Amino acid sequence: MVVGNSRLEAEISEDLTTVRIRLRGQFLEPFELTAPLSVRTDTVVFELTELERMNSVGVRQWDHWMRAISKSAPKAVIELKGMPGFFVDLFNLIHEFVPEPYRVESFYLPCYCEQCEVSSETLVSSADEPLPRRVEQLPALACGTCGQQLDVDIVSDRYFQFMKKSL
Ligand SMILES: [Zn+2]
Repeated sequence: MVVGNSRLEAEISEDLTTVRIRLRGQFLEPFELTAPLSVRTDTVVFELTELERMNSVGVRQWDHWMRAISKSAPKAVIELKGMPGFFVDLFNLIHEFVPEPYRVESFYLPCYCEQCEVSSETLVSSADEPLPRRVEQLPALACGTCGQQLDVDIVSDRYFQFMKKSL
C-alpha cells in the first residue's frame, strides 16, 4: 500500500507481527499514518534512506505517529534503518523523538573526502558489525569514488547520542 501527498510517500507492508514503513521524499505537511498496527505488532520498521527533509510540521506529525504506535502497539520495538544525517540531528536534539523501545539498524554519517573535495553521507550498518557509540569505534570508511579513507565530519561523541538507548 502506498499513501502520500505531493511531497511524501509512505510504502506500507505488513506480516503477522511486523509493519514496515518506507518513507520517501520530504516531510513538510500533516500526514496521517494509516498503518495496520495492532497489539500483535511486535516490530515497526521505518526505512528512512529516501527521506530527504523534515520541517517543524513534519516533526510534529512524526511525534503523533510515535504516540499512535505506542498506543496501538504498546509492545512494539521501533526499528530504524538508514537514518539520514538530518534525522540523526533531530533525534539527538528532541527529547523522546523516538520512544523506547527502539533499535537502530543503520544510519548515515557525514563524511568528507580530501582527495575528491566532496562531502557525502556514508551508511553505517549493524549488518557488518555492532554500531559505533563513540567516534573511536567508527570503522574505516573508504571513499566510493577514489578509495581514499574518508574523514568523518562530526565534532564529538554527541553525534551518537541516539545510540544510548538503542536495544
Ligand atoms: Zn574520494
